Amino acid sequence: MEVKSYQDLNISPRILLGAGPSMVAPRVLNALSTPVIGHLDPEFLALMQEVQELLRYVFQTENELTVPVSGTGSAGMEASLCNFIEPGDNVLVAVLGYFGERLVEIAGRYGAQVDRIDRPWGEVFDPDEIKTALGQKKYKLLAFVHAETSTGVLQPGIAEIAAAAHQNGTLVVLDAVTSLGGLPVEIDAWDVDVAFSGTQKSISAPPGLAPLTISPRAREVLRNRSTPVRNWYLDLSLLEKYWGHERTYHHTAPINSNYALREALRMVAEEGLEARFERHRENAEVLWAGLEDLDLSLLVPEENRSPTLTTAIVPPGVDALEIRKQLLNDYNLEIAGGFGPLAGQIWRIGLMGFSSRRENVLLLLAALREILKKR
Ligand SMILES: *Cc1c(COP(=O)(O)O)cnc(C)c1O
Repeated sequence: MEVKSYQDLNISPRILLGAGPSMVAPRVLNALSTPVIGHLDPEFLALMQEVQELLRYVFQTENELTVPVSGTGSAGMEASLCNFIEPGDNVLVAVLGYFGERLVEIAGRYGAQVDRIDRPWGEVFDPDEIKTALGQKKYKLLAFVHAETSTGVLQPGIAEIAAAAHQNGTLVVLDAVTSLGGLPVEIDAWDVDVAFSGTQKSISAPPGLAPLTISPRAREVLRNRSTPVRNWYLDLSLLEKYWGHERTYHHTAPINSNYALREALRMVAEEGLEARFERHRENAEVLWAGLEDLDLSLLVPEENRSPTLTTAIVPPGVDALEIRKQLLNDYNLEIAGGFGPLAGQIWRIGLMGFSSRRENVLLLLAALREILKKR
């Protein structure tokens, strides 16, 4: 068979202000191109330990079982559910939007009896609503999203919700995909049992790994399973042997992705968590004020907004997709559209990790001003 000749790779220098991936710092990309070594090479084993230490720092936890799972954020979600669910278990999901739906979907696939409570897209739960629902049945597990990327809300009251769950003997699973590395995620202080994230949002490494942390309480539940985990690749009882002392082969670790994650986390540590959270908040506030200046309304009231993802309402008569196309083609700027019940109605603007920079916000506002004025 003939094969045509393909062009050199030629990717445009996009400014990524969508729902992820976020931009990756040059030094992280450099780390990615470091030579491959073996997944049991002593130098790689030492690097694994550093990645774990740095992940504990960003998760603000002492949890020993804190690892980057192979795969994107959804692999973290899958691992967080499949390891703790056995067929017939009662699971409660508090759904704020699309990613809450995904929790319902995945939990169901592992045989859980899933109950859900819902808020309309754009709203958050009053923690009391979740507490009341927890009292209705004996749930093995409660799962919900911290920062819901489909709507731009930040669920408050995690510690309070977790305390109520534990009173009922329920484990708490938190989706921290867009919050980790951009907003406080205090696993130990909040007493969250299982939390997962992705490398490509506020941590700003390329997509491909899913940070995951597991409390001693959750590990106990894992140890006491009566059936094997129904997902071999994400089975933590096997993975913990590779990431723990035994260093037993399970699957080949994505070596270079771990180089990149280590470098991205080193940047988080150099900046410091407090300064990093402050930067995310400040840049989001500049964006919010600028959008309002352009007469664009924001979907979420300020007290419930996540600084990592802002949702602006598309004005009547404006074609949301057309504006996004212009931003991309004429300015190299990527923002995201709405989906589900908000399709065509909102723009989603991410300011995560290395993308959260003042100059990016100002460029987007200037571009939007030009485009909206021309119409
Ligand atoms: C992006 C995202 C996910 C899924 O992550 P992928 O990397 O796309 O697999 C899950 N939850 C939330 C809140 C997200 O924003």
